[in-house]
Order: sequence, then C-alpha cells, then structure tokens
Amino acid sequence: MNIILLGPPGAGKGTQARTLVETRKMIQLSTGDMLREARSSGTEMGKVVAAVMDRGGLVTDEIVIGLIREKLEGDKQGGFIFDGFPRTLAQADALAELLAEKSETLDAVIEMRVDDAALVARIAGRSTCGSCGEVYNDTSRPIPADGHCENCGGTEFKRRADDNEESLKVRLMEYYKKTSPLIGYYYAKGQLKSVDGLASMEDVEAEIAAILDA
Ligand code: AMP
Repeated sequence: MNIILLGPPGAGKGTQARTLVETRKMIQLSTGDMLREARSSGTEMGKVVAAVMDRGGLVTDEIVIGLIREKLEGDKQGGFIFDGFPRTLAQADALAELLAEKSETLDAVIEMRVDDAALVARIAGRSTCGSCGEVYNDTSRPIPADGHCENCGGTEFKRRADDNEESLKVRLMEYYKKTSPLIGYYYAKGQLKSVDGLASMEDVEAEIAAILDA
C-alpha cells in the first residue's frame, strides 16, 4: 500500500508517518528529511538547496523527483508513505509515472486539515529528538523535565533552521500557491481522503487507520 500525507507545514505529517512506520512497517519517504541529510553531509546538491530551504522556498521539481526515483528502487516493505512529496502538480504527475513504471498503485491521499493560527503555534515551538526524531512542542508537549526523550531516552534536541516566523510565512504561501491545488487534483482522481489534523494525535492515528483498513 502506497499513500501520500498531504498538508501544510506543521500539520503533523511527519508524526503520523512515524507511527505508520512502526505499526505497518511502511517506509517513510520525506523529501524534507532527504534534503536536510544532503545538506548536513555537504553534498553538492545539499549546498545548492540550502539557501532555498532556509528561506522557505521550494527546491526544484527535478531535484526532488530525482530523490524519490532513487528511493523507489529500494525495499518497499509495507509500502511507501510520501511525506512532503508531491508539493507541485509536476511532482504529482511525475509520481504517477514513477509508480506506473513499477506497476505500483497509489492507494490513498490523506489530507491533514489544520488552520493557519494552529500551524504557527506548532511550528514556532517545535523541536525533535536528535536520536529518534520524536517531536516535541514548547506548549503542547514540552521536552520532559529530566531532559530525556520519552521515546528513546536521548538527551539532544534539535530545532530546524527554517522553523521561524519569517520562513514559515514563505512556506505557507508556497503551500497555498503550489501545493494546495493537489487537493483538487487528487479529489478529481477519486483518491482524496481528509482527516482533522487538529484532533489529538491518537484520534488522527485512528482516523488514518480507518481509512487504510477500509
Ligand atoms: P519539510 O521537512 O517537508 O517541511 O521540507 C523542508 C523544506 O525542504 C521545504 O520548505 C522545501 O524547501 C524543501 N522541500 C521538501 N520537500 C520538497 C518538495 N517535495 N518539493 C520542493 N521542495 C521541498
């Protein structure tokens, strides 16, 4: 089973993807994570995309499609979760072609609905565990007082360079201009399902599970 998690930055795509990796042995393909990895390992491509990412813009379709193409060659286990990809109509078309080449299907596109005010609060206070990626938030889920990650016990926490108000404004604008048309695109294809991204993490998990089990 292959699915897309669609939604603006801070909608909770990464958190839900991590759950699906654990519960269904799916493989999370986050283009954001791949690009951050390319940056931190100092590859040529990483250097090219760094400034665009910091400002909150979108990296070229060619680069991200190339990253996804490579990953589709690997093990698929319980299927792929596309997290943060596609973000443009050109990427969506490319994904359809790549899946068709591999005789794979796209089984659901899950839109995570949230409002802008909630996104700003979620993102401005977001941090993640440096070891396992567990997500924390200064107001809704602070890092435990003993300084240890609840999931793995790790003691290092990171904040993303682009999780600031200025970059978030650009990221939201990019989402509405270039990514939100995908909602209509997948609706027209009969593949769109929506969940309330503002519900509790457990409720969102349950809603997604019900869609995948249907
Ligand atoms: P994310 O972790 O998904 O929020 O992505 C972080 C940043 O990586 C975005 O703000 C973009 O600069 C870049 N990025 C991630 N995925 C894509 C994509 N599919 N297309 C273009 N740029 C992307």
